[in-house]
Amino acid sequence: MEYRRMGKTGLQLSVLSFGSWVTFARQTDDQQNDRLMSLAYDAGINFFDNAEVYSNGLSEEMMGRILKQKDWDRSSYVVSSKAFFGWKGADKKPNQHGLSRKHLTEACHEALTRLQVEYLDLYYCHRPDKNVPVEEVVRTMNTLIQQGKILYWGTSEWSAAEIVEAHAAAGRLGLEAPAVEQPEYNLFNRQKMEADYLTIFKNLGMGTTIWSPLASGLLTGKYNNGIPEDSRLALEGYGWLKDRALAQDKLNRVEELGKLAVQLGVSLPTLAIAWCVRNPNVTTAILGATKESQLLENLKALEVLPLLTPEVLTQINDIMQTKPFVSEY
Ligand code: NDP
Repeated sequence: MEYRRMGKTGLQLSVLSFGSWVTFARQTDDQQNDRLMSLAYDAGINFFDNAEVYSNGLSEEMMGRILKQKDWDRSSYVVSSKAFFGWKGADKKPNQHGLSRKHLTEACHEALTRLQVEYLDLYYCHRPDKNVPVEEVVRTMNTLIQQGKILYWGTSEWSAAEIVEAHAAAGRLGLEAPAVEQPEYNLFNRQKMEADYLTIFKNLGMGTTIWSPLASGLLTGKYNNGIPEDSRLALEGYGWLKDRALAQDKLNRVEELGKLAVQLGVSLPTLAIAWCVRNPNVTTAILGATKESQLLENLKALEVLPLLTPEVLTQINDIMQTKPFVSEY
C-alpha cells in the first residue's frame, strides 16, 4: 500500500480507502462488513469513510460494531463522518440537518456514539449550506477540534470559491481551516479536480478523499449489457443514479475503455481506479464494494499505475472525451 499526506497536513492516508455508502445496511450485513473491512485493513487500508446520512445512521452503527469487535489499535486507522443531510429521513425537523452549530455539534456527538470511538479523525461538511454564515461553520469545527472530538475538518462538494471563503474566514479569526475536500472524481467527472480546484491545491494545500472512482460501478463494464440483478443500479430508490449513469454514450465509452484494458492486460476497474490515483492531487480514492472479490480486484489498481504512460493517458482521453479544457493531466 502507498500512503500519501493529506494535503499540507501531517496525516497519512492509504491511497486506496474504503467507504460504506449504499452498501452497509442496504446490501451488506455485519458478517460481510467484517470480511470487507478486515480484508481492507489487512491490505494496508487505513481510512474508513462514513456519514450520518448513510442508511440513516445504520451505516455508522455497523462500522462501529466492526471497529469495536476488531479492536484494532485506534492509532492505526482513520475514521470519518459527515454532517449536512441529517439522518431522520423525510421526518427531519429544521435543526436536524444543515451546517448550523447545533446540527454540526449534535451530528458529531451522534457519530461518536454510533461509531463507538472517542474522536473522529476527519469530520466533513457534506455539502455547503448557503443559509449558515461561514464563520459559524469555521468556529464550530474549530471548537470541535479544540474539544478533541475531531482532528481535522473538511468539505465535500464545495465550490472552490466556497473553500477559499472558509479559509479566508479561518485566517481572519485565527482558527482551523478545512484541510480536505471530498469531491466526486472519476473518468466521467473531472472538472473540479483537474480545473476548478487547481488554485486551492496550490495556494491552500488541501488534500482530497475522492469518491465514486468507478462512477457507482459503471466503469467496471458491468452495466454494458443491462443491469445485473445484484448490483447497485438494480436497487429500489436509486432511479436517479440509474438515469444519470446509464446514458448510451457513456456505456459506449466504457466499452471502448474495456478494449484498451484488454490490450494492456488489466481489468477495467483496476484501470479506472489507477487512473484516479495517478493524479497527485488525490490523497486517497475511496473504494466501495459489496463483495470481497470486488475489493480484492480493485486493490490491484496500484499494480496498474506504472502502465499509465503518457501514450496510454492520451488514448484514455481520446476515448472518454471528458478532459477539462485547462487540465494539466
Ligand atoms: P465506486 O464508484 O467505486 O462504486 C462502488 C460499487 O461498484 C460497489 O459497491 C459495487 O456495487 C461496484 N463494484 C466495485 N468494484 C467492482 C468490481 N471490481 N466489479 C464489479 N462491480 C464492482 O464507489 P462508491 O460510489 O461506492 O463510493 C465510494 C465511497 O465514497 C462511498 O462508500 C462513500 O464513502 C464515498 N462517497 C461520498 C460521497 C460524498 O458526497 N461525499 C458520495 C458518494 C460516495 P454493486 O456490487 O452493487 O454493483
